[in-house]
Amino acid sequence: MFNQAVFNLHEASKDQVQEFLNSFDTVLTDCDGVLWIDNNVLPGSADAMNYFRELGKKIFYVTNNSTKIRSEFASKAQQMGFIASQDEILSTAYLAAHYLKGIGFTKKVYLLGSNGIGEELKAVGIRHIGVGPDPVKPDYRAMKESDLDPEVGAVIVGFDEHVSYPKFMKAASYLASKDCLFIATNTDERFPRPGSVIEPGCGTFVKAVETCSGRQALVLGKPNDYVKKYLETYGLNPARTLMIGDKCSTDIEFGVRCGFQTLLVLSGVTSSKELEKLRRENTPPLPDVVLPKLGDLLSIPDPVKPDYKAMNPSDLDPEVGAVVVGFDEHVSYPKFMKAASYLASEECLFVATNTDERFPRGGSIVVPGTGTLVRAVETCSDRKAFVVGKPHDYVRKYLESCNLNPARTLMIGDRCNTDIELGVRCGFQTLLVLSGVTSNKDLEKLRSERTPPLPDVVLPKLGDLLSIVSPTNGSL
Ligand SMILES: [Mg+2]
Repeated sequence: MFNQAVFNLHEASKDQVQEFLNSFDTVLTDCDGVLWIDNNVLPGSADAMNYFRELGKKIFYVTNNSTKIRSEFASKAQQMGFIASQDEILSTAYLAAHYLKGIGFTKKVYLLGSNGIGEELKAVGIRHIGVGPDPVKPDYRAMKESDLDPEVGAVIVGFDEHVSYPKFMKAASYLASKDCLFIATNTDERFPRPGSVIEPGCGTFVKAVETCSGRQALVLGKPNDYVKKYLETYGLNPARTLMIGDKCSTDIEFGVRCGFQTLLVLSGVTSSKELEKLRRENTPPLPDVVLPKLGDLLSIPDPVKPDYKAMNPSDLDPEVGAVVVGFDEHVSYPKFMKAASYLASEECLFVATNTDERFPRGGSIVVPGTGTLVRAVETCSDRKAFVVGKPHDYVRKYLESCNLNPARTLMIGDRCNTDIELGVRCGFQTLLVLSGVTSNKDLEKLRSERTPPLPDVVLPKLGDLLSIVSPTNGSL
């Protein structure tokens, strides 16, 4: 009824509030940032939700959080004073299991996620592997095809505090098979949390696995409309549905895509300053109505006292002025958290060595490259790295200070999209060798489609140069 007007319900007349309350029969609400933050209930939110129920509204708790099973969410909500049953909880862990069950999936799942998803899969009779720590072994690059479980037919990426390099390696290797399904619970970049420490969200891992696998995940959580399809089988009427959330880019976007009314509360991710900016620039999606917090619906004033998790701003070194991301086999959740937290300061520089997605390696095992980690940190920090490696022209600038003449320079490489791209960008001549990443077949394709950058000359391998120069003895 307010149609993306960002109308502050606090300023509404009694009649307008009544009209608003009469305009929906179903309430979908996000949880973290709307009802609670971590284990702290937001003041008045339980009263507001229970009030909707008293008015006869149907209620669903729709959360992108994949770490718990539905009964755990229900008991968490009940302990905080919400009336809630398991059937009203739509968590992404449950949706992932429901989706696979619905398509008749019978193979095993490789799960880069937590036990919440594992338990939901178990409940529908789907086997899974991968939950828990998978630490880096000294010979991690020796991973063999026989280390992969041939029964795996799907990779699910959810929130995983034990994320590690071997997990990326396994996920990408399973996904090298086209028949392997790729499902993500959600793509939230960060958890809502006040203060200067940043907690990377599931989207950080999804982006990393998408990068090293070269595939796109099917995302079940908000803002994707899988939830709507799910609820429509229960007779949901979108026009008579209200979506409540704390984040414009997921909750409100989801509501707008599904044709629901939307209420944004400012107690979580989207701040009133950000909302002002979106409104000024008329950037969709904009909420229909807005409230400082859900409890204000019943005008119950009470300050928000969010709890801080283990990492404190005092754990961050105030002298850090730059984050450099390179290849790191010991990549971990705390490392993403620290990198993103340092980068929350605009003055902190963000440098990446390179953005190579994968290391060259034959066979079906995929070895994720630095680009996987760079994309992950870019996602949770919401910053773009300054990349010094190929194909970026920082190398040329460096060499020009050593009196390099680009026109008289040859760049040799095995990879069109980094080595040859660098050469072309810098005005060098280029020689592609086919002994590494870019294969003869890839090159044929690029050539037939005339896709730049194309090399000037090409050789099967660099050593072949000698037989051309001196065919008899291979020496100069
Ligand atoms: Mg939220």
